[in-house]
Amino acid sequence: SPGPLSGVMQTVLEAVCDSLLQKQEELNMLDRAAGDGDCGNTHASAAKAIQEWLQSHTVPGCPGQLLTILATVVQETMGGSSGALYSIFLTAAVRPLMGESDAAAWAKAVHAGTEAIKRYGGAEPGDRTMLDALCPAVEELQRLLSSPPAGAMAILQAAVERAEAGADSTRSLSAKAGRASYVATQHQTQPDPGAVAVAAILRAVFEALGG
Ligand code: ADP
Ligand code: MG
Ligand code: MG
Repeated sequence: SPGPLSGVMQTVLEAVCDSLLQKQEELNMLDRAAGDGDCGNTHASAAKAIQEWLQSHTVPGCPGQLLTILATVVQETMGGSSGALYSIFLTAAVRPLMGESDAAAWAKAVHAGTEAIKRYGGAEPGDRTMLDALCPAVEELQRLLSSPPAGAMAILQAAVERAEAGADSTRSLSAKAGRASYVATQHQTQPDPGAVAVAAILRAVFEALGG
């Protein structure tokens, strides 16, 4: 049976998809400044595919099961570096959520996913990638491992704010990974699109959960 988590996860997913579709042109514009201009399209493709999946399926009550499905959907539809990296993230995030689905398990899942992106993509924070938004958020989310459940939303809010600050900080970074690393530093005055997308996703999650 789907269970109570199913509805919450569906609401969150819908909010994330809406946010990414809203940001499509902005992300393309940012990617035109330093990449190949398709970062909004890759994220929009994933969002549309997830929306379609939601129309014909019930979200499973087990988060690990949902993330396994999403990894496949993303791998098959998103394309680009983002498609590969998000698919890797989602696949690695499954294990901490098998049998557990409290805030601490989600924090472990996001941490595991982020470590997998680092391992497979070879980038680190400071390289002007999505990791510049993701890593500060993950650091904040680690506080969920020792916090009472009542404190979870405040921690999530702080994580969203760290991601947004991290995304903004990429304006002054020169790229060391991905296509943007082929563009001269002086041309990069806009933030990295992948990092901006991560911050938007986290804010959509936070707001869909009532924050
Ligand atoms: P592509 O570069 O293949 O066109 P996208 O436009 O979908 O892919 O995504 C570009 C984003 O992917 C970048 O803005 C950056 O945040 C992220 N990215 C690229 N390479 C890496 C990497 N090795 N590690 C982490 N993130 C990366
Ligand atoms: Mg691109
Ligand atoms: Mg591309």
